[in-house]
Amino acid sequence: MSIEISNVTKTFDSFQALKDINLTINTGELVALLGPSGSGKTTLLRIIAGLETPDQGNIIFDGEDNTEKSAQDRKVGFVFQHYALFKHMTVFENIAFGLKVRPSKHRPSKEAIQQKVQELLSLVKMEELAKRYPAQLSGGQRQRIALARALAVEPRVLLLDEPFGALDAKVRKDLRRWLRKLHDEYPITSVFVTHDQEEALDVADRIVILNQGKIEQIGTPEEVYDNPVNPFVYHFLGNFNLFHGRVHNGKVELGSLKLDVPEHAGTKNKEIVSFFRPHDIDISLEAGGRDDIEAEILFIRAVGPIVNLELKRLENGDYIEAEISKEVYRKLDLKEKQKVYVKPRDFKVFIPEDYVI
Ligand code: ADP
Ligand code: MG
Repeated sequence: MSIEISNVTKTFDSFQALKDINLTINTGELVALLGPSGSGKTTLLRIIAGLETPDQGNIIFDGEDNTEKSAQDRKVGFVFQHYALFKHMTVFENIAFGLKVRPSKHRPSKEAIQQKVQELLSLVKMEELAKRYPAQLSGGQRQRIALARALAVEPRVLLLDEPFGALDAKVRKDLRRWLRKLHDEYPITSVFVTHDQEEALDVADRIVILNQGKIEQIGTPEEVYDNPVNPFVYHFLGNFNLFHGRVHNGKVELGSLKLDVPEHAGTKNKEIVSFFRPHDIDISLEAGGRDDIEAEILFIRAVGPIVNLELKRLENGDYIEAEISKEVYRKLDLKEKQKVYVKPRDFKVFIPEDYVI
């Protein structure tokens, strides 16, 4: 089922939590709402669910206006960060609950419920744990059961609000891969709220970046990561280095460093901010040309496959972070306090006055 969110606005007292949100989620898509805390993600999810009413705008499911419908009539499944499973019920009973409480004329037979729960247990790979109680499960297992429970009533839409937020990093990573696979197998239209960019980039078909109640950008993970439309999106999607400078007639000047920026060919003498990602950096021991930055290595962290370098630009003291492979690190035989030449392979230039952040 598709979801169309049209001109949605929401104010709490005098605080505007959502400002004219327009977004279409396609049938079977897994969309992530990504943004910092307080950006309006939960409010938007609750409005989609029918747990909150927008001041203005409409929520349309498959072309049908659902704005006035109750949460129950919308048939959405919800998974929260702290989804309290019923403590006194086994895993099996928890999953079956939504079906057992249906009024008799909509309630499936005992055998049908049994079969449905078995299917869901197998879908979430928890067949062996059917007889356990929630207290006997790990946090990750509980969230998988929470998801199976939400799916049991065959919702038209699945809404997940930071479902892995309370789990530790390793489990979160496993679970988001698991969710991605589950969604490929069982492609129910899903909206996944997170403040973790890595999680959104990993799991979603498309990402919606929210900031202060507004949508900053919508796109596939590649689109938003490779072509962030403004500095906020760039900042939010990963680690970065920032240089201040000026742009004039298609050339950016960052101190003595001059780079071509054809997209700014017509720009006259404007202040800019320039960003580049730590993994988009080449390091060499010899000066290669005018787009090199002379720097001193302050600190090396060589644990794991990626080596992190902290550097200081010699010209002005600007701080630079770089991530290089272990092979390159070994080949160059890098040491702290060494002088090196840093070259951004890719960078983005924004004119701050073009953006209200
Ligand atoms: P997020 O989920 O992105 O962290 P929320 O949607 O929960 O953000 O909240 C967005 C903003 O709206 C926050 O500033 C929050 O304090 C405010 N807000 C949310 N719900 C209410 C409410 N029921 N009453 C008053 N303010 C609220
Ligand atoms: Mg929230």
